[in-house]
Amino acid sequence: MKTTMFYENDYDGAQSTGAGSESMLRVDVRLFLRFLSILFFLLFLTVPPAVSAAEHSFSEDANAVEAAADSVFMLEVYSSRAQKIGVGSGFVAFDSSLLVTNYHVIDGGAYVVAISDDYAQSIVTEVCAYDRSKDIAILRFDNSAGSAPLEMDAQSTLKRSQKVVAIGSPAGLMNTISIGNISAFYRNDGKDWIQFTAPISAGSSGGALLSDEGKVIGMTTATYTSAQNVNMAVKAKDIVTLYDRWDGRTTVRMGSVTGGGSSAYPSIPAATSPGMGADNGTTVYVTSSGSRYHNNPSCSRMKNPIEMDLLDAIERGYEPCGKCYK
Ligand SMILES: [Zn+2]
Repeated sequence: MKTTMFYENDYDGAQSTGAGSESMLRVDVRLFLRFLSILFFLLFLTVPPAVSAAEHSFSEDANAVEAAADSVFMLEVYSSRAQKIGVGSGFVAFDSSLLVTNYHVIDGGAYVVAISDDYAQSIVTEVCAYDRSKDIAILRFDNSAGSAPLEMDAQSTLKRSQKVVAIGSPAGLMNTISIGNISAFYRNDGKDWIQFTAPISAGSSGGALLSDEGKVIGMTTATYTSAQNVNMAVKAKDIVTLYDRWDGRTTVRMGSVTGGGSSAYPSIPAATSPGMGADNGTTVYVTSSGSRYHNNPSCSRMKNPIEMDLLDAIERGYEPCGKCYK
């Protein structure tokens, strides 16, 4: 019998004592084991393994999402003439004085007003590091709201279907939360994007894309305008790489790094994406010495059109022509 085995193994030395105390011990051990078996049965009934997994679900923990939103800012971008030229998003990462956003959000801007979840405002003029081709900028600011840095996850293996939470300010609607999943991974030369379904819009650029563990896995950056919920995020890995290249001290003024371009949200005009039988729309037209890509090969703002893949054009720093793309 199991109870006896248990008793003998554990109370080996006690067997040489009197018969009375031995049988008392036996009874106690049996009662104890019965108690244990009932306890385990109850535990099994009340705590199925799935529940412990759900405890780590960031997307279902409204308080945790609210706390993360405290670290996401709405960015109003102003020109040197103090005209508001755009709205974007940014999030605190690495250090409470650093704000991560998309390069295209600050492009053309002289300064940014960062507005916290509880409407504290900071003026941001310093750029620590930026990468135009990967569309990342790391800004330094006076974090008067005292928001904590969000944890970056550049290590985890991401999987299609995994849940994501996007926090940003689509259409300037402050810190909007949306939930979706990773749809695919999009690679093109040096660019490594996460394709996801959590709805975003213009103004979401620079927002945080969090995993279901509440860590930043990407930055919400772009969408395909003629598709539904085909959205792209810059990977956290690329943001961490840029941060690691920064010396930790030097900053430059925002206006000095910008190309004077538009801070328009990079709506990708084509409904197609590679591997999905891309047909029309992925080809754009450029002039080798120009800075704009065109939708129309006979656009009057371009001479001697050269065909180019849209994403190649974006990667090389071309911006949409104001005439072809409105
Ligand atoms: Zn054009």
